[in-house]
Amino acid sequence: MSGRSCGKAAVIGAGIVGLFTAFKLREAGFEVEIYEKSVPGSGASTKNANVIHLIQPPPGKLRRVLALRGARLHRVYSSILGYRILDVPLILAATGLQESLILKMLKPLVEKVYGVKAYIVSGDRARDLEPALSDNVVSAMVIEGYGIVDSKEVISRLVKSLLENSVHIINVEAKALKAGPNIITSEGEIKGYNIVINAAGEDASRLARTLGDIIPTIKVPGLMTLHSKPRLRSIVARPPAGIKLESKGGGVIPQLDGKTLLGPTFGLRGSRGVSELRRIFNKLLSEDVGEPLKVVEGVRVIAVRGRDFKIRRSYREPHIIHLVGIESPGFTAAPSIAELVLEMAGCKKEGFNPP
Ligand SMILES: Cc1cc2nc3c(=O)[nH]c(=O)nc-3n(C[C@H](O)[C@H](O)[C@H](O)COP(=O)(O)OP(=O)(O)OC[C@H]3O[C@@H](n4cnc5c(N)ncnc54)[C@H](O)[C@@H]3O)c2cc1C
Repeated sequence: MSGRSCGKAAVIGAGIVGLFTAFKLREAGFEVEIYEKSVPGSGASTKNANVIHLIQPPPGKLRRVLALRGARLHRVYSSILGYRILDVPLILAATGLQESLILKMLKPLVEKVYGVKAYIVSGDRARDLEPALSDNVVSAMVIEGYGIVDSKEVISRLVKSLLENSVHIINVEAKALKAGPNIITSEGEIKGYNIVINAAGEDASRLARTLGDIIPTIKVPGLMTLHSKPRLRSIVARPPAGIKLESKGGGVIPQLDGKTLLGPTFGLRGSRGVSELRRIFNKLLSEDVGEPLKVVEGVRVIAVRGRDFKIRRSYREPHIIHLVGIESPGFTAAPSIAELVLEMAGCKKEGFNPP
């Protein structure tokens, strides 16, 4: 394996975005080191709903473009790296006339804007497709092409492949960034990189600021609960509040281990979050989900300006690339974010040996 000819790259953060980015850079011929302050995947990347999305973000956003391509790339990487994807439909379940009308109006929009096939079905037909639906469901829109992963499995497969391909994961916190491009850590200033990628999730905005780059974000918690029942064949969610395709938030989501996930909430935490999820989604289901087996809370990092992924070079140091505001569907988009970063980093060479 050659892989030295593109120069040396540092990636800060071993979440799904940092790991896929390291993978692409290594594949292209960079020598890659990852700085991780905790353990790989300890941020949002293992505290999410495990959905490979198809149509989640509003049209016109970079998030949407990268997620659409990312969803396709995950199918490729799942066989290269050996992680599972369970293909499931999304069922948007209407429980009244107004929601049924919204679905009818949405159908052509979904097909035109996202290029996916959507079907409107009666409540009975929806129950044939998903027996866990309650009699409250009067009609539904069905969209094929969603996927479910086990995010911990994806992370561990990526880490394994990277380690086998001479990528070092250094257990050190990046304190600041400097022109050079250099990284300041508790162990001193590290020099000698040709390119530095700031993929530090919750900390990416702060790190960018240490270099004078202002990319403000807010953090919004998302609570999810895991249940032993009902067993689902599909993702079940409520229709959007209007025809703008903005989700009402969360869903009932089958997991690869057979459990059922409710959520996530948008900001609501603790026992209020747990009971709100149960109240909203029980209405769509034929049996009560009961008390959760487990409660998981993740943190969304949302870019304040324009609510979109901010993928840009530092104004001070063009060899530092910031990945800020990588909120949902960042897990889905991660492989295509990595492609974009490689294009910005600019080197394509042989020398990588994935499994
Ligand atoms: C509740 C919830 C549900 C979601 N559901 C979905 C979903 O179903 N599908 C989907 O596509 N997306 C989903 N998302 C979004 C997705 O999880 C994130 O977009 C994605 O995980 C972001 O990955 P990341 O690598 O940027 O960040 P992270 O996973 O947070 O990784 C950042 C890493 O950097 C490390 N780090 C931080 N600071 C430093 C530092 N200074 N030095 C060294 N290391 C550092 C951290 O320890 C961490 O390991 C969800 C998000 C939330 C919160």
